[in-house]
Amino acid sequence: MSSVCDNIKNLRKTIESINKNAKLMAVSKTFGYDKVKEAYSCGQRLFGENRVQEAIEKIELSKKDKLDIEWHLIGHLQKNKSKKAVFYFDCIESVDSLELAERIDTYSKEYNKMMDVMLEVNIAKEEQKYGFLEEKLMDSIKNILELENINVVGLMSVAPISENPEDIRWVFKRLHELALYINKSYNANIKELSMGMSADYKAALQEGSTIVRIGRGIFGERDYS
Ligand SMILES: *Cc1c(COP(=O)(O)O)cnc(C)c1O
Repeated sequence: MSSVCDNIKNLRKTIESINKNAKLMAVSKTFGYDKVKEAYSCGQRLFGENRVQEAIEKIELSKKDKLDIEWHLIGHLQKNKSKKAVFYFDCIESVDSLELAERIDTYSKEYNKMMDVMLEVNIAKEEQKYGFLEEKLMDSIKNILELENINVVGLMSVAPISENPEDIRWVFKRLHELALYINKSYNANIKELSMGMSADYKAALQEGSTIVRIGRGIFGERDYS
């Protein structure tokens, strides 16, 4: 068995021991299509990519091979790439402005598609990070929920980098609270909490994560050179 398969198997075991219903996303960014196929051969079906163009190449290949993959966009989406993103992805997790949500809605209408999206929240208010600030999200949420061809299925967050997951547990807690608050206040149906990565997924699961996004923990270290 390959190490990719071992990693997936071990992760599944750990995830299941904390939250039976949580899903494992394999984040295949920077890795080639061969790695996608390897993970697929071990039963992995949910994949995440952070760049539209890089993802499209892999998605095209996976379509040719008739692989039954659910592709999520997890990286910042530039408005001029939103049409392609709507066409290729099954879910856009990185919606971070009302304007972007409106564009996605417009293109989804064009393609006659109901687009699943998540709203990315910058819980820790990090300047270099994308995502709604909470106040901004509260200003926009009503308008976003009213968009006809968008289905807001979840909230997503990237926690600050930290040596100790306990230091950022509050971020996961806060995202969870926010989802409950939005559901209650707007009669919404946000079910997914996409939170937790290789370094902090256990704490995220303990705080209610339903999707953990794992790259290095499955495929190994990334080479950006
Ligand atoms: C790269 C990335 C991940 C995966 O990170 P790892 O540390 O490799 O597990 C998860 N979420 C987002 C948004 C990413 O860009």
